[in-house]
Amino acid sequence: MRAEILMIGTELLLGQIEDTNATYMSRALAAAGIDLYWKTTVGDNADRITDALQRGLERSDAVLCSGGLGPTADDITRECVAHVLDAPLEYHDDLFQVIVERFRHRNRPLSENNRRQARLPRGAAPIANPNGTAAGLIAEHGAHAIICMPGVPAELRPMLDGVVIPYLCWKHQISSTIHYRVLKVYGMGESRVDAVISDIISGQSNPTVGLLASRDAVRVRITARAATTEEAETLIAPIDALVRQRLAGLADGIEPE
Ligand code: ATP
Ligand code: MG
Repeated sequence: MRAEILMIGTELLLGQIEDTNATYMSRALAAAGIDLYWKTTVGDNADRITDALQRGLERSDAVLCSGGLGPTADDITRECVAHVLDAPLEYHDDLFQVIVERFRHRNRPLSENNRRQARLPRGAAPIANPNGTAAGLIAEHGAHAIICMPGVPAELRPMLDGVVIPYLCWKHQISSTIHYRVLKVYGMGESRVDAVISDIISGQSNPTVGLLASRDAVRVRITARAATTEEAETLIAPIDALVRQRLAGLADGIEPE
């Protein structure tokens, strides 16, 4: 299956907050063996969110969205999903009662806007949010799905781990994992490493081999997909040996990270 993530929030484009949700989501998807093919960031703008959802739905099996489910006027993710799916937003009193209860429990005044958070596009399923007000949602569209979670990391993470990833694995019958090993290569530039092992890099699909240069070393990342971590290690081992063999004598040192 192909997944993509859509990060929503003008503060992300302005660089006011770090997009830790994207990092978290990417890692969680990889660990579950779900291929992530695109990551998009958009501001709180209806046209661009709608556009990104539309494209996502066409090219990916699942679009996982973060942010814009709050009660304020700039939280418009729900409206955009409804628009793209051509499914009207419907008010769910049971969802609203959960919100009412939450506010009562905390002695906070409820505002009329909070009702907006009790709406879902027709046919969508809510994802309970024990750590905040807004429920998440899963809206299926044929074989594809748009999934929305709140932007607050403490709310998004449990939804992703507890509901969204299990849902995707069940729906797409995924029982594999993506696992990687990194070799740090010292005393050789990235382009030189690339030249020496380019046939290994371009010739492999499982494992895949990638390079990442940093100040202290060039990292060679060998990534495999398999049913278990142990099986992935078995796939990685011969490529690891081959890379070391090629670079031995050329690099000052090679060691696992
Ligand atoms: P809320 O109900 O709090 O309004 P929301 O679903 O509308 O939630 P946003 O308004 O987009 O989400 O973001 C709420 C807060 O969550 C932001 O102010 C920020 O602190 C945090 N946040 C949002 N997106 C991200 C992200 N991608 N990575 C890390 N933190 C984020
Ligand atoms: Mg908000």
